[in-house]
Amino acid sequence: MMPSTVSCSIDLQAEGKRIGHLRINKITNTAGWASTFIHLGCVVNGKGPTVLVLAGNHGDEYAGQLAALRLLQELQPEQVHGRVIIIPVLSPPASKANTRTWPSGANFNRAFPGRPDGPPHEQLADYLTRVLFPMADVVIDMHSGGRSSTFLPCSHMHVVDNPQQRKAMLEAMEAWCSDWHYLYIDVNGNGLLPVEAENQGKLVVTTELYGGGRVPVAVQDLAWNGLNNVLRHVGAMKGEVQTRASLGLPPAVIIDGRDPGNIVVSPEDGLFEVMLEPGDPVKAGQPVGRLWFMDKPSRAPELLCSPVDGVVVVTRAIPITEQGDCVFVVGTVIEREAIL
Ligand SMILES: [Zn+2]
Repeated sequence: MMPSTVSCSIDLQAEGKRIGHLRINKITNTAGWASTFIHLGCVVNGKGPTVLVLAGNHGDEYAGQLAALRLLQELQPEQVHGRVIIIPVLSPPASKANTRTWPSGANFNRAFPGRPDGPPHEQLADYLTRVLFPMADVVIDMHSGGRSSTFLPCSHMHVVDNPQQRKAMLEAMEAWCSDWHYLYIDVNGNGLLPVEAENQGKLVVTTELYGGGRVPVAVQDLAWNGLNNVLRHVGAMKGEVQTRASLGLPPAVIIDGRDPGNIVVSPEDGLFEVMLEPGDPVKAGQPVGRLWFMDKPSRAPELLCSPVDGVVVVTRAIPITEQGDCVFVVGTVIEREAIL
């Protein structure tokens, strides 16, 4: 295969701290021979694991981008064992536009493994797949519900087949010290960044940090504290590893989100009113929200009900809803032993 088309302005092997950028070729109507810059930082101190800290995979998911920008600025070599490579905003054109996808319409989290001769987002995916992931032991990819949905603030994971990898991912997920954890499956296509990293055998840690177009203080604290503790947990950052017990917190609740039937979409166009919030318990048949009809105000609202007994995980954050839009997701509580 042809070599990567992406260039990196800094040495990712050298001891110390460097901040630079990746360059992807770009040609626009106002600039030929141009580049898109993907900024990154690299902090290296002796032997130890390599951790790749990623955020802004989806543009409108900002809690992780803020935490990663802060880490890039604050992390110093003397705090590190090994190497931490930080890309705070993987999809700058989408982040600047406050959109999930790139302006081209491309979903970066469906672009993997990528292609060196594809469009810019696929060239970036290819660079991650063939250059950065092979260097890494741990890949952290921070997401949120984006503008369109509010997601129970949590760290989450795929239940991968390899038992050692699964156990390591479960323990790293728990090291985020969030109140909730979530087991997810891929819906709406493949080509996810975490799947490519998992297929390369990496310890992958992912999050969903609220959403709905704002980042509450508590969510930003969770993003920052969780990220730092996971870096300590995997041995890349010095300092005492915290647990929920050491913080005086009760055990986290793990939600199983692997049944696609628990992802509920709207049967028709309307205005969605939430009746429950993420984290609320719910019974099968209980309304999670209801749909109103602006062009038929005399019509009674349509109740949209949970298919199972469980917990509300996601609710739609934008009332205006089209037929087929996801309006809520519910999950069921699972014991950690059932995952191992
Ligand atoms: Zn996302």
